[in-house]
Amino acid sequence: MSKAYDVIVVGAGNAALCAAISAKENGAEVLVLEKGPIHKRGGNSFFTDGAIRFAYSELKDIRKVIPQLKDEEADTIVMPEYSTSDYYNDLMRVTEQQSHPELAGQLVSKSYETIVWMRGHGVEFELNYENQSFEKEGKIHFWGGLPVKTKDKGIGLIKQLVKRANELNIDIWYDSQAVRLLTDNEQISGVVIQQKGQEQTVEAKSVVLACGSFEANKEMRSKHIGSEWEAAIVRGTEYNTGDGIKMALELGAQTFGEWDGCHSIGTDANVPKVGDFTKPGDIFKKHSYPLGIMLNKDGHRFVDEGADFRNYTYAKYGREILKQPDHVAYQIFDSQVRPLLRKEYNLEEATVYEANTLEELIEQLPVNKAQFLQTIEEYNEAVQEGDYNPSVKDGKGTKGITPSKTNWALKIEEGPFYAFPVTCGITFAFGGLHVNSDGEVLNEKQEPINGLFAAGEMVGGIFYKNYPGGSGLMSGAVFGKISGSQAAKYVGVHRENAALK
Ligand SMILES: Cc1cc2nc3c(=O)[nH]c(=O)nc-3n(C[C@H](O)[C@H](O)[C@H](O)COP(=O)(O)OP(=O)(O)OC[C@H]3O[C@@H](n4cnc5c(N)ncnc54)[C@H](O)[C@@H]3O)c2cc1C
Repeated sequence: MSKAYDVIVVGAGNAALCAAISAKENGAEVLVLEKGPIHKRGGNSFFTDGAIRFAYSELKDIRKVIPQLKDEEADTIVMPEYSTSDYYNDLMRVTEQQSHPELAGQLVSKSYETIVWMRGHGVEFELNYENQSFEKEGKIHFWGGLPVKTKDKGIGLIKQLVKRANELNIDIWYDSQAVRLLTDNEQISGVVIQQKGQEQTVEAKSVVLACGSFEANKEMRSKHIGSEWEAAIVRGTEYNTGDGIKMALELGAQTFGEWDGCHSIGTDANVPKVGDFTKPGDIFKKHSYPLGIMLNKDGHRFVDEGADFRNYTYAKYGREILKQPDHVAYQIFDSQVRPLLRKEYNLEEATVYEANTLEELIEQLPVNKAQFLQTIEEYNEAVQEGDYNPSVKDGKGTKGITPSKTNWALKIEEGPFYAFPVTCGITFAFGGLHVNSDGEVLNEKQEPINGLFAAGEMVGGIFYKNYPGGSGLMSGAVFGKISGSQAAKYVGVHRENAALK
């Protein structure tokens, strides 16, 4: 039996580190357990571009989070309000009204105070000019409620959180997989961990599970989301294999949320099978499909590429790509839109076919060539007149084809032409545990399991079908902070009760 802690946090991603810092600042002795080695710490959070969604009313709110923003720069910016109701409504709209109102309300209403808190603990943020703004009449206009990202992406986020945890003397043990939760008299009493094949027990009055969902577990993906998901690429860490969920279920925790749903995207067809920690950053995604069209190997389109801004469709279109033959699709663009494609299309990691004519392009692709060409020609004929404007939903669509393209429909007619092969990459599973607004894990009778909390991906019931981009990090931060402080409070009460006996 080794040293005992007040709170053990399982995982070393964004949710876990926020929980650890929060527990520590609320007076607890904290241990963080990370399954991976030190060079593979940070979970999915490490792989992100750091886009983080929160509610704000004015630019001055943003300036509290980005204090380095100078007046001259601020004068060039138009920053429309993104209120808590905007955030809540976006969340409800993209989840088809299924997000749990209490959890959704907690995420949204605590988002601003949480990002300010993160800043206070040293996390640095910057404006997301690249993906979330456009220039009009000499001003930079932000759109979409996602103007901020962490400095140096997920790498910067994890670096700053670990730095802060170290400053606060929080112990972090790497290569330490939590394998079992222990209870005593129906209260959490510790965690069994595995280190280099050896088991040991660490005592603690409270545990915060923040060790991701089951996206990296083939069997669980196949069982819960569907057999075709065995073939999905894992975009992030290999370690999120559902351990925390399984440990909690063994204690009678209640499952919650959309267990047959997940966040997934279209990603380069030649991406590594699991996230490569030496190539972090979201470099393989391919999110400019609203500017072109997507065809499968049989030569058919299968989604409305222009249904909405990519922020609101990318998380559900990965699933659609997985359903296509060989789980592959081709994003097709011409030279009119090529300069507008996002940065990831210009990286050396991007797989691309290029040719001066459509026929030459299609000749290079392992597809039904006649049908592929016919579909593009039919699409071109169906494109309607209208003002093309990629910064608004321009309504320039198609008529007479299925599926239609509702916005940003330009004919694919000016060479050179480009084909980017994409497949489906899973980001995280939507199914998880049932927690209340304090982050306490609930059992089948809707009662808290004494001393057990959860945060981040493993919280079920917030995201269904889709999610508003940037909400994964914010959900982890909000519920991490809450769980950490509640876990510390729980331990404090426990201690007082023991003293009274
Ligand atoms: C490529 C990519 C890009 C993304 N971009 C964004 C973005 O820009 N904005 C956004 O909001 N979201 C983004 N997401 C989603 C976001 O990463 C997640 O929603 C969020 O980071 C999850 O945080 P978490 O702390 O719950 O899990 P993680 O960050 O995955 O952390 C879980 C940790 O638990 C550890 N662990 C697992 N099992 C155990 C165990 N048994 N014992 C000990 N440790 C264990 C893991 O090793 C890992 O370190 C992206 C995801 C990916 C993969």
